[in-house]
Amino acid sequence: MNVTVTAKLQVIVTPKQRAALDQTMEVYRQACNYVSGHIFETHDLKMISLHNALYRILREQFGLKAQMTQSVLKTVIARYRTILENQKEWIRAKFVRPQYDLVWNRDYSLLKGELFSLNTLEGRVKLPYHSEGMEKYFDGNYSFGTAKLVNKHGKYYLHVPVTAEVREPDGSEIKNIVGVDRGINFIIATYDSDHKSGFVSGRKIKQKRAEYKRLRKELQMRKTPSSRRRLKAIGERENRWMQDVNHCVSKALVNQNPKHTLFVLEDLKGIRSATEKVRQKDRYVSVSWSFFDLEQKIRYKALLNESSVINVDPRNTSQKCPKCGWIESSSRDKKRHLFCCKGCGYRSNDDRIGAMNLYRMGISYLGRG
Ligand SMILES: [Zn+2]
Repeated sequence: MNVTVTAKLQVIVTPKQRAALDQTMEVYRQACNYVSGHIFETHDLKMISLHNALYRILREQFGLKAQMTQSVLKTVIARYRTILENQKEWIRAKFVRPQYDLVWNRDYSLLKGELFSLNTLEGRVKLPYHSEGMEKYFDGNYSFGTAKLVNKHGKYYLHVPVTAEVREPDGSEIKNIVGVDRGINFIIATYDSDHKSGFVSGRKIKQKRAEYKRLRKELQMRKTPSSRRRLKAIGERENRWMQDVNHCVSKALVNQNPKHTLFVLEDLKGIRSATEKVRQKDRYVSVSWSFFDLEQKIRYKALLNESSVINVDPRNTSQKCPKCGWIESSSRDKKRHLFCCKGCGYRSNDDRIGAMNLYRMGISYLGRG
């Protein structure tokens, strides 16, 4: 099984190199817009005919090198494919920010694992990079895909899709089980084979979500073109923020656990909607989307750490006694955050019950082989 993640590597540039990169990114951007105009008029998305029609102009008028013309065509074709898939109609693609897509071992390569060599209009530049935390991508187990050069607040980053072949551990190799309960008051509550519970508070997330919600509501009522634009921009910002939170939560979760861990999560498809767990006033679309996104991120990171994720039936996970199996909704006193089993009298903080039950389901999953 292959897993691909994006490594964001900051490269270090001298003023002269900076000028070469800026120029290349700007010309690349202009060339993309030129090709975009041609494709928009002709609706032609075939590499060969585009190459025949545009190659000379891209070389002579824009001064692109042969390899870069290929990259430009690929970039614009890909953008139109995405537009057609999402919007179902021809909308002219605009390339607003300077950019540059680089094909591995053609437009960029790695010299002795120490320097990135990038093709620019001024020839090759060799750039050191910040490697802290990135070492694992260079251990030989990853292959590199087409990278994007990005200028963010004056710093240059290569966004490199790195792919590793991973093998899921089989049941006999599992050394640790972690029940992971997703929620609102706690982004996750966990319970593991050492009988330790863990909680990641959701309080700040809740506040920030509420802020976004208020902002969205305000803008929705205005109904002007500019408010609609802002609404879209804010939606995208909220998305990025949420993904960043999920990235941090999943990273910490996977790093805190050894290799060969089995993470047990509720199957979101089994809950009529993920929001069923969420109190009425907290229900909005972004919650279920965020649950799903978090799961994807845990899954990726677990695989890269020789661990795996299973989904289990979510029914009764918050009402069932993890000690005796008795199911009764009144066992749970939500106001006092207390779980007190009506069957055996077992008492615990109610927020860990879900995670404990998921943990137990992980044990029986392995027991079944
Ligand atoms: Zn009980």
